[in-house]
Amino acid sequence: MRKKIIAGNWKMNLSLNEANELHEAIEKLNSSDNQLVKIIFPPFVYLDRFIQKKGHFNVGAQNVSQFSNGAYTGEISANMLKSIGCQYVLIGHSERREYFNEGDNILSLKVKQALQNSLKIIYCIGETKDQRQNDDFLSILSNQLNLLTESLEINDFENISIAYEPVWAIGTGLTASPDQVEEVHASLRIALEKMTNKTTALNTSIIYGGSCNTTNAESLFSCPNVDGGLIGGASLKAKDFLEIIALLNNS
Ligand code: PEP
Repeated sequence: MRKKIIAGNWKMNLSLNEANELHEAIEKLNSSDNQLVKIIFPPFVYLDRFIQKKGHFNVGAQNVSQFSNGAYTGEISANMLKSIGCQYVLIGHSERREYFNEGDNILSLKVKQALQNSLKIIYCIGETKDQRQNDDFLSILSNQLNLLTESLEINDFENISIAYEPVWAIGTGLTASPDQVEEVHASLRIALEKMTNKTTALNTSIIYGGSCNTTNAESLFSCPNVDGGLIGGASLKAKDFLEIIALLNNS
């Protein structure tokens, strides 16, 4: 059975005081949603602090180096993340692809580093606005998935979830409609089955990200192939994030 996942990507936001306040507020959630996997992705400098608090939320890193160690000033390795008890990592986010030129080679090295260090991966894929206009945009997405799967073993999928994040919807206030999202998620699951096998395709969580909020979350989460959400802006407001979690829990 695949898991439902709710994840908050804080990006490069919040001072330490603000981050503490947000963390305290979301940790007050009642625990009737134990069947959900709940993850926050704070900036690197706050990871250890929230890991030590051992709350309801798993803690993940927004990025990881493609290198294992050495003279790479400013980088953070998968082994370092593992050594502080970090469990998850985001790889392939469109902001990393676009602003930091992370292409397929770098991403597949990052995936390898994460898996070698037993980190669980949320791997993001998504089409740009221009690609969406293309009749064949579903095959653009399945190619992105293929670039991930071709270097992996079936067992690796126990540690991988996919986030479908249309680039045109991230941080823009534009959300893909539930029909658009279901169309993509269902086609990704079929593509995944061809690349792996039926069990792996059925067991891999595929979550949606892109301006998901308290107004649209219920209809997005009601789609049969949507297994949760990767939430950016709305995860910075405790009340909204908790409401989105409750909507997923009741879906
Ligand atoms: C994201 O950063 O992954 C994201 C989905 O952001 P937002 O919810 O703000 O669009």
